[in-house]
Amino acid sequence: MRIKTFEAPTLQDALEKARQELGEDAVVLNTRYVKPSGLLGIRGTPKVELTAAVQSEEPVLAKTNELASRSNNGVVNSTSSGSEDGLLSSADSCAQQISSETAAGHKAVDCSGLGKASSEIEVIKWELKRLGLIVENLLSARTSAVPHMLMSEHTAHASALVRAGVEAEVAYKHLADLVHLEDSDLLARALASKLECFIRPFDCSRSRVVAMVGPTGSGKTTTLAKLAAKWSIERGKDVALVTVDTYRIGAVDQLRTYARIMGVPLEVAFSPADLAAAIHKHAARDLVLIDTVGRSHRSEEHLRELKTFLDAVESIETHLVVSAALSPEVQYEVVEKFSIFSPTCLIITKLDEVSSYGVLVNLPFRSGLPISCTTSGQNVPNDLSIADARDIAAAVVGRIPAEAVR
Ligand code: GDP
Repeated sequence: MRIKTFEAPTLQDALEKARQELGEDAVVLNTRYVKPSGLLGIRGTPKVELTAAVQSEEPVLAKTNELASRSNNGVVNSTSSGSEDGLLSSADSCAQQISSETAAGHKAVDCSGLGKASSEIEVIKWELKRLGLIVENLLSARTSAVPHMLMSEHTAHASALVRAGVEAEVAYKHLADLVHLEDSDLLARALASKLECFIRPFDCSRSRVVAMVGPTGSGKTTTLAKLAAKWSIERGKDVALVTVDTYRIGAVDQLRTYARIMGVPLEVAFSPADLAAAIHKHAARDLVLIDTVGRSHRSEEHLRELKTFLDAVESIETHLVVSAALSPEVQYEVVEKFSIFSPTCLIITKLDEVSSYGVLVNLPFRSGLPISCTTSGQNVPNDLSIADARDIAAAVVGRIPAEAVR
């Protein structure tokens, strides 16, 4: 990608400069009026500064030479009177001029011979494209509270990252050097390297006691069963399950059924002391997974009560389970409410219920918490993925809506 800033007395002149140097595919990233220099701006004339970018690294001279030779070979009918052809033939004659003058060693190129009307159409086309991108970006960012300044500086270009569901605020604040990438492979690779520090793959070698916390219905019990199956059946580890979920009728039975099928022990804790005893009982196990009470995350009393349970266990890792299907506002509320548990990781569930995977970037960057695993379906144990930066980046970029791909 080439990004260049052009200065000219008027916007039209700046656009013309950008078009000549970067070609027709260039996109305007930003425009600003520069005050004249000198005391109170009395001396000098105001200027327009325009920043534009083009995806291709191909020098525009090669393109202009190509245009010139196409014209010479008669591929484009330079005598055509149609308006589009008229524009093309103007461009071609300009290209020929650039080509021959550059060959003759001249640096300055005067394209002022282009018809005034056609250059005005060009300005309108550029402006329409720019406005379209602004609207697109605003729509993508409608759920985020993007600071006004930030938006006004950057809305000229709805980047692929934003189209992939990454909130504009996250994109421009934390991933600013990625917002101009349009090539999917490049973007996925760059995003993967940014995500590395937000990935903490689930692994029982760090902590052998892991608790799941999160709102009711977020998928804690199901995810716990998936993890237990993966570690006990696939990896041959010694796993035990403990539940402090004594509030929901049937919740213990659900876990008991999973435990029986997998052949792993299940303990039910009715008090913090019970929980500590259960952990002690399974001290020799490779992994002890704790399921927690399912009640509203808005009940502070419940959250404090649950905390007294988990505080009874030493060396515990707490994973916050958040459903991708919740609105971003509720997801952030969940992160805030459960911060009393100082979770070490996020588990993002129900990816099969959403069309964009932006949450896999938004939530870690906003919360500062890494992802340990994700789930995308109700099947135990299959619909579970241990977090991997490259897989997540590819999945996020792979969800850019087809109609939005340029
Ligand atoms: P808990 O209250 O947090 O323990 O949530 P559960 O594990 O009981 O899950 C609540 C519901 O969500 C159940 O119907 C699960 O089958 C379902 N569920 C769990 N994980 C997923 C997932 O990744 N995708 C979908 N679509 N449903 C899920």
